[in-house]
Amino acid sequence: MPASDHPILILGGTAEAAKLAAALVALGYRTISSLAGRTSNPAKIEGEVRTGGFGGAEGLADYLRRENIALLVDATHPFATQISDNAIAAADVTGIPFVRLERPDWRRKPGDIWISVATLEEAVAAAPSKARILLALGRQHIAPFSKRRDVFFVVRMIDPPETPLDLFDFELELSKPGKKDEEAAFLTRKRLTHIICRNSGGAASYAKISAARELGLPVIMIERPHRPGAHALPDTDSVLRFVVEMLG
Ligand code: NAP
Repeated sequence: MPASDHPILILGGTAEAAKLAAALVALGYRTISSLAGRTSNPAKIEGEVRTGGFGGAEGLADYLRRENIALLVDATHPFATQISDNAIAAADVTGIPFVRLERPDWRRKPGDIWISVATLEEAVAAAPSKARILLALGRQHIAPFSKRRDVFFVVRMIDPPETPLDLFDFELELSKPGKKDEEAAFLTRKRLTHIICRNSGGAASYAKISAARELGLPVIMIERPHRPGAHALPDTDSVLRFVVEMLG
């Protein structure tokens, strides 16, 4: 049983964060998972849950003090940069133990043809004229591609978008990503020449990268923002060990 009932705050919104909350609760720790509130029906999370922004790094620091938080885990998505910067600053100013849970990014393998870019805007510029591109990005990242009237896009989504997509020449595909062979068949059937995606890491969306390698298709890969100074561990087990070492 943990020595103190002071809660662990998990900045979440990812599958890893939910998995960590469940594991910590099972070990007897008190957890508060924090969600930004972007999803109307988030999946069930073990332990306590709070929703909404804190009001910047200062607001987060106030919350850490007010709620007697014993340890802060930033388990937000690799591309959620603002909240992660706030977490580092708030942990710094309060002195509360801090760890970041960040799944490793994908690394280039032999046969991969990656065009690595740093931003969405660079990805827009890197798309060759007349290409047929699988745009494997969330709907909030689609609009910048509207200026590329010389490119055909296939946009794959699980649910239909609430507002029409702001693209010139495109096809909407409502389906889930499949296994490598299914992804290869999909890329071939749609006569796609490129993929544009973010370097999210993890297994769930890697099949398209393996399929592109197999087919020799270039991938315009939006790399992760560089965040110096974060104490990062790659998986829930390592974070669990860290928590047990820190809190007993
Ligand atoms: P962001 O740009 O880094 O954060 C913007 C603001 O939203 C933050 O300053 C903070 O407001 C609030 N916020 C973000 N995450 C929060 C959390 N877990 N709890 C409480 N407040 C939070 O974040 P984002 O990219 O919009 O992502 C929002 C959430 O969606 C995160 O929880 C993230 O894990 C999840 N998510 C993001 C992506 C992605 O691609 N970015 C993908 C999957 C899931 P205040 O400054 O007021 O505190």
